[in-house]
Amino acid sequence: MTAPAATAPDPGAGLDPGTAPPADRLPVASAREVRAHARRTMLRHRGPLAASLALHALACVAALAAPQLLGRIVEDAAHGSLAVTPVALAICAAVVLQAVFTRFARRASLRLGETVLADLREEFVDRVLALPTPVVERAGTGELVTRTTRDVDVLALTVQRAVPDTLVAGTTIALTIGAVCLTDPLLVLPCLVAVPVLWLSTRWYLRRARAGYLRSNSAYARLTDTLGETVAGAPTVEALRLQGRRRRRTDADIAASYAAERHTLNLRSTYLPIADTGYILPVAATLVIGGLMYIEGMVGLAAVTAATLYVQQVIGPVDTMLYWMDELQVGGASMARILGVRDAAAPATAAAPDTAPHPGSPRDGALDVQGVHFAYRERQESLRGVDLHVRPGERLAVVGPSGAGKSTLGRLLAGIDTPGRGTVRLGGVPLTELPPDELRRGVILVTQEYHVFRGTLADNLLVARPDATPADLERALRAVAAWEWASALGLDHEVGSGAAELPPARAQQLALARLLLLDPPVVVFDEATALLDPHTARTVERALAGLLGGTVVSIAHRLHTAHDADRVVVLEDGRITETGTHDELVARGGAYARLWKSWHG
Ligand code: ADP
Repeated sequence: MTAPAATAPDPGAGLDPGTAPPADRLPVASAREVRAHARRTMLRHRGPLAASLALHALACVAALAAPQLLGRIVEDAAHGSLAVTPVALAICAAVVLQAVFTRFARRASLRLGETVLADLREEFVDRVLALPTPVVERAGTGELVTRTTRDVDVLALTVQRAVPDTLVAGTTIALTIGAVCLTDPLLVLPCLVAVPVLWLSTRWYLRRARAGYLRSNSAYARLTDTLGETVAGAPTVEALRLQGRRRRRTDADIAASYAAERHTLNLRSTYLPIADTGYILPVAATLVIGGLMYIEGMVGLAAVTAATLYVQQVIGPVDTMLYWMDELQVGGASMARILGVRDAAAPATAAAPDTAPHPGSPRDGALDVQGVHFAYRERQESLRGVDLHVRPGERLAVVGPSGAGKSTLGRLLAGIDTPGRGTVRLGGVPLTELPPDELRRGVILVTQEYHVFRGTLADNLLVARPDATPADLERALRAVAAWEWASALGLDHEVGSGAAELPPARAQQLALARLLLLDPPVVVFDEATALLDPHTARTVERALAGLLGGTVVSIAHRLHTAHDADRVVVLEDGRITETGTHDELVARGGAYARLWKSWHG
């Protein structure tokens, strides 16, 4: 037999679906929600599911004919009236029928598995895309990436293999036991001897196996890390004469890995023989008890033969069920994590339920900040009572020393974080009341993080405005000083992961050109030109300010941005300390004037 699939890939897989998630991570659905979701999925696909199970049942019924016919051969042989040929032909026909039904049944269940999986994937992508930005940031990329890759892969195995195989095995076991019952109900009794043996031994094994395999996986990972580190840092190891220490650490890791492997080997070598005995026991018991019953004249020879063959036949499906049992648990845990993403998206959408009055759309690109306080950590406010009004279409620069709270203000203006106290309004509507879609359409924060999509240069621009003409693309690229290199490469040049990587500065220019095509009502720039050289940065910023139609707030790390803006606000220690045009503030001789002097020389 095969050991149940207790080789859980990593500790994350062991997350109990019912446990509350650690703070700040994405939620995990409860075991009940997972079961309800599985039930709903089965109901949604009940037609194909029933068809697939019916085909498997027909294949199983065809397989049940052979033992009956063999039983008859034995009975006839015992009575000396053997007519092998017609019975043998019937057996052949049953085997062919079984093969045909199995083929169509497998096809149906594979197709069903793929359909369910495709639904799950699409639903998951929708949920991930609906996640509000603060949730994504808090959860961390690792958490989301694990859920999108490993959890979905684990679930794929569960949906494509574990669930159909378990359902088929269950049906086969039920039908085979039913066939033994029909042959002679008394012959079911010997099968029962296997139940306590298999139940107890499998429980014993599964309870220990998960922890054992997790330990051996992590011991192996540690050993790989140690070896990798030693090889990569060989010159340092040599220079600092750390050879002895590294060797001792490697020896300790090897010993730990060896002990972990030995432990799982011991588990297998204890469990497998017991489980194998559990499989053979009912066969032997059916033969012995059936034989005794035959001698007593209670059953016929054909019945004993058929029942023994049925019991033998049921070993395969029982083995399959035990094998997948653990995989189903692991799949359940992954499902809980995938469904949890929906719960993370829920609070944001709950802010605007269908029955609630719609807050209305922002009437223009005006930003209103009133009495805003914000703290990342308790009792350490990064913004301490900020009031600010930005007119629609205004070019506003925010300046101030490092750590003053400029980026924090930018994030609040873009609705990425919400103020602890006070409100931020866009066109008269509080940002917290805007559904995520509308918020993203209304205001965009552009930082030095950018993304190049896999595709051509033109594709990368057209995602922002699919109906843009080649002339629009050229205008946008010229504005960000990228036309020269972009036209030299050609707009049909493939870029993005796997294709030619664009240097960071060019990727940033591409992102800015995309923004220009999108032209949202409000843009907040925070170090959006940091990767460009100062001269190009200034040209690009001026072009953007001239071409963008909406409100532009620039967190100014280079003061030429402030020089070119309609108005400047100075932020110091979480408060606005000065407001005015560049000239007014220089003339006032305050904080801005000092910043300008030290920057400009
Ligand atoms: P600036 O953009 O003016 O340099 P920031 O808005 O980045 O300032 O930071 C303002 C204050 O908030 C600083 O004291 C900084 O240490 C703190 N801060 C910024 N980001 C975080 C964060 N993610 N977690 C905790 N504290 C933060």
